[in-house]
Amino acid sequence: MSKSQEVPDEEFVRLSSIALRIPESRLSGMLKRRVLQNVSGFFPDHYRFDKGTAGFETGTALFKTDEGIETVRGFPKIQRAMILGVGIATHFEGLPEVAVEEKMNGYNVRVASIKGTVIALTRGGLVCPYTTEKVLENVGKDFFIDHPDLVLCGEMVGPDNPYVPKDIYHEVDSISFFIFDIRHKNSGKPLGVDEKHELCSHYNIKTVPYFGKYPLDEASRRITGIIRELGKKSREGVVIKDPEMKLPAIKYTSSKSNNNDLEYAFGFYNDYGKDFFFSRVVREGFQAVEWDEDEEALHERCCRLGESILKPMVNTIKKRRQGERITEDVQIRVHSLDTANKFEEHLRRMGIDAQFDEPKLVDGQYLIVIRKFNQSTNDRTSAILSGQLW
Ligand code: ATP
Ligand code: MG
Repeated sequence: MSKSQEVPDEEFVRLSSIALRIPESRLSGMLKRRVLQNVSGFFPDHYRFDKGTAGFETGTALFKTDEGIETVRGFPKIQRAMILGVGIATHFEGLPEVAVEEKMNGYNVRVASIKGTVIALTRGGLVCPYTTEKVLENVGKDFFIDHPDLVLCGEMVGPDNPYVPKDIYHEVDSISFFIFDIRHKNSGKPLGVDEKHELCSHYNIKTVPYFGKYPLDEASRRITGIIRELGKKSREGVVIKDPEMKLPAIKYTSSKSNNNDLEYAFGFYNDYGKDFFFSRVVREGFQAVEWDEDEEALHERCCRLGESILKPMVNTIKKRRQGERITEDVQIRVHSLDTANKFEEHLRRMGIDAQFDEPKLVDGQYLIVIRKFNQSTNDRTSAILSGQLW
């Protein structure tokens, strides 16, 4: 625990109380309970909400500047339609049309300029040194010179991805940043979908693929077609938005992506939360019914689901039986080893147990394989193999 958590920073509490309109005593209480935490040692020092509270989302980050406190709101949770038809009709009732974007599968990043320095925040509100280096390769500083009051929210996708590695995006060789929302600092209020696209095209910033706007009564049919096509390419799904961004967005994913997630996670079956598995199986049930599948299609879905669950687990058990250690291998690609060292420290702070292999110089960049230890799956599997009862 750093000094500043033991002794709440009075200046910070006073300024935040004004900026967030929360009584000082309440803020001090949050700091003591560590709902609100100081993040020191990173540049720039800041505070983050570890849990959503007082109307602030998890991952909301607070920065002390000369003008007071600047807030980058946490990215809001997106609810899922379990049944596309009735889900869209109910959630967007009264709107003439909805905007449909691809839901890309990587990790959520918010990029903002704080005191003139562009930083990338991951979901929990930490500044990630690797992401910051990579984002700056995609987003020029000119956007933030003109719009210091805006936050770019997007997904980092690609194979050189230390959190969610995927090589399903053939246009991405390494890792790349795709914007899906532009929001205001402090309020977190989003720009409309058209305004977002205009700004991004003006500054030459990539956005997630956009399918366009569909009348409400056609949307479900059209999105079903989109989902089937995305599924064939292993891509995740869609996010459906109010074009004016007044209503919250909702998401829907392909069966292929649900299965890919299961296949990945069951290799580390004891490290992932049970809800991760359960929710994906339930999605398959509702999709099969909504799509009114015949015996053959349903049988195929059952086989797909069963294979996604059992094969990776069997593989893990066999590997462990041969004495192999189960690791989740990811990789990063950096221009400077300093970034890699900072990233190693960053993972340690996040409580992730990982080992960095020796860097390999490839085309002028360092490629580093990171082995994350899934201790719980290793321990549980060994214990069972040596006779422990469940
Ligand atoms: P949560 O449900 O809390 O948002 P999660 O990671 O479990 O978190 P996901 O199922 O991945 O949720 O769906 C939400 C995430 O999808 C967003 O946080 C964002 O990172 C990502 N995303 C990808 N494409 C888009 C898009 N076009 N619009 C909005 N979010 C998108
Ligand atoms: Mg995701």
